[in-house]
Order: sequence, then structure tokens, then C-alpha cells
Amino acid sequence: MGETIRLRPRRPCPICGKPSQQRYHPFCSSRCADIDLGRWLGGNYAIPAEETETPEGVGQPEKDEDS
Ligand SMILES: [Zn+2]
Repeated sequence: MGETIRLRPRRPCPICGKPSQQRYHPFCSSRCADIDLGRWLGGNYAIPAEETETPEGVGQPEKDEDS
């Protein structure tokens, strides 16, 4: 009783997926926070792009222009 109802569930750490800690919100630890910060500073922060599905014709690096 008297407990605050959480409208939003805790989000997992965006880096490793572990439950985030309030101290390092939204990360689970200072390490993950540093990793995220480093990505921003390094300009390498990128949202996972859509990976191109490997075609069935694996093993043919040369493009067949005649097709
Ligand atoms: Zn983490």
C-alpha cells in the first residue's frame, strides 16, 4: 500500500539489454553509459540498419549482367 504505480515498465539497458539501474539510467552500469557516450562522441552511433539478406545464390561474387 502506498506504493507508486509504475505506468511505464523499466526499459532494459540499450547497450547490453540488462535491466537498467536507476543510478545509471537508462543504462545498467557506468560502463554501458560510457560505451554509449563513446559512440556519440566517436560519431559511430548508428541505429542498426536493415541487414541485407543473403541471397540464395551465394558463391557468385561477380554480377551476372546477362541476367
Ligand atoms: Zn548495460
